[in-house]
Amino acid sequence: MNIQVDILIIGAGLAGLRAAVECVDQATVAVVSKVFPTRSHSGTAQGGITASLGNEEEDRWEWHLFDTVKGSDYLGDQDAIEIMVKDAPRAIYELEHMGVPFSRTPEGRIAQRNFGGHTRDYGKHPVKRACHAADHTGRVVLDTLYDQCLRHRVKFYSEHYLLSLVMERGRYAGAVLYDLATGELRLIQAKVILLATGGCGQIYKTTSNGFASTGDGLSLAYRSGIPLEDMEFVQFHPTGLYPMGILVSEAARGEGGLLRNRLGERFMERYAPAVKDLAARDIVSRAILTEIRQKRGIGGKAYVHLDLTHLEKEKIEEKLWEIASFVRIYLGIDPVYDPIPVKPTCHYVMGGIPTDVNGRVLLDEKGSIAQGLFAAGECACVSVHGANRLGCNSLLDLVVFGRRCGLAMKQAISKYGHSTISNDSLRIVEQKIEDFFNSKGRERIVDIRQRMQSLMMEVGSVFRNEEGLRTGIEEIRSLKERYKNIAVTDKKKTFNFELMEAMELDHQLTLSEVILFSALHRRESRGAHYREDFPQRADRYYLKHSLVSQTSKGPEIRYKPVKITRFQPEARVY
Ligand SMILES: Cc1cc2nc3c(=O)[nH]c(=O)nc-3n(C[C@H](O)[C@H](O)[C@H](O)COP(=O)(O)OP(=O)(O)OC[C@H]3O[C@@H](n4cnc5c(N)ncnc54)[C@H](O)[C@@H]3O)c2cc1C
Repeated sequence: MNIQVDILIIGAGLAGLRAAVECVDQATVAVVSKVFPTRSHSGTAQGGITASLGNEEEDRWEWHLFDTVKGSDYLGDQDAIEIMVKDAPRAIYELEHMGVPFSRTPEGRIAQRNFGGHTRDYGKHPVKRACHAADHTGRVVLDTLYDQCLRHRVKFYSEHYLLSLVMERGRYAGAVLYDLATGELRLIQAKVILLATGGCGQIYKTTSNGFASTGDGLSLAYRSGIPLEDMEFVQFHPTGLYPMGILVSEAARGEGGLLRNRLGERFMERYAPAVKDLAARDIVSRAILTEIRQKRGIGGKAYVHLDLTHLEKEKIEEKLWEIASFVRIYLGIDPVYDPIPVKPTCHYVMGGIPTDVNGRVLLDEKGSIAQGLFAAGECACVSVHGANRLGCNSLLDLVVFGRRCGLAMKQAISKYGHSTISNDSLRIVEQKIEDFFNSKGRERIVDIRQRMQSLMMEVGSVFRNEEGLRTGIEEIRSLKERYKNIAVTDKKKTFNFELMEAMELDHQLTLSEVILFSALHRRESRGAHYREDFPQRADRYYLKHSLVSQTSKGPEIRYKPVKITRFQPEARVY
């Protein structure tokens, strides 16, 4: 069955839904999601969304700008960051008017809390900047935007899996989808397409990301000829619940939680004397792993403690109730009385599909535009997070740039008609699925995936070095060879998740190679990318964005300059 719409949005997280709400008044809009829309990863965001509202103490957008630039280790594009932080207060009030039930101060204003790296007076003191709804902020914003989409009659294709992007005469003109409930293929024609497919944290064994975060959109863009920007920068969040890696939001430290080692020391005092436990994530993650390496983990094991026991019980129950509840459920301990075991967990990919500030996808370092293609959210790289994202700046990025994409797509559709697309793309995909079913291979998907996830922890996580990265790339290549012999044993048509996992694994292997390849070529340490063999930042050589493209000989790297408008790079101390 072939379908025609003006605007096709792949991804029903906050980026996709915010864009849909913006353009549905003047266009037919379809939103596709492989999971039920409100199950998108955005719904798990706990801590909040930043804006310099100054509701609890003085704040200014200039300070938010400075913090984000410094947090990015000077790799973020300052023109894009300025757009984001200036637009933040408007974006929050807009969400409030749409119906988001933010937590309140006693006077009835939107409540704000501390978050790592957010400061007053250009780095002097922590500032309360993160607006939140207790510790389930993403949940309420996602539900509100989903309601708005239903109200405006956005058409949803739920539990539909994007298999391929279709190009017609050099322009992105449609997509092939797999309907998980029926096993049928659908070809959707569109004047423009927005990729809002989220991150790829599932490449790593220890991750805070949901099962859907497999990077499909990143990989499909890459294979269609788009370079991927700054993929070496993968954020490890300091406080994943030990041992599973489920996120314990930074809100816990924002509300006064402290990190302690085996000796009970507040070790962050040594690593970030000014803001201590509220330093940026890359710094805290390295500090925790250094403590563990130097045998100051709890009981000699690979974790430290996040201590909330000095906080009032009422505060924990009111402001951190979701965190408290899952610590009780998963570990059987009560954070009111017991410290929480934590270790760093893969959380966010700073890199992604390069775009301009209106979400238009860029084809090269000169800034040529990919016709008909937009990207927003975690899969995009504007770049506002540079080498390290500050907490609560992602939700802001999603709603600010999601909206800008919506506006730009509305304009773009007047330029384009529908191009007639042939059914060839459908046939190619049909054949691929047939090949999976008919394969005589013996390799199991789960074996390859588990090896990839462990390998990425070993060589591509918080600490990296030349030898590890080289051997890692070789091993990923041999896993790709093994992948050619995988067997899909489940042949049924409805809800064939094994088939979907086979497709996802292909994307994950592609992205693993890109991440390691980019990391190998950056011979310095910056933000989340730490090279043990090159521990210093080297602005002279590497103050630039990397762009990795697919070629017949494998990945190829190029660079483009960072946009610096106000703040020249300085030493980054907290
Ligand atoms: C546990 C956790 C807590 C977080 N807390 C915060 C926080 O407090 N504040 C903050 O600022 N940030 C937070 N983040 C980061 C932030 O939540 C994410 O970066 C953000 O939600 C990503 O949103 P998105 O719209 O880009 O994509 P997502 O919300 O990840 O959604 C991706 C969408 O793409 C769809 N999709 C993907 N592939 C396909 C395919 N092949 N076919 C069809 N559909 C597809 C999925 O179904 C889904 O709808 C948190 C992240 C995690 C994991």
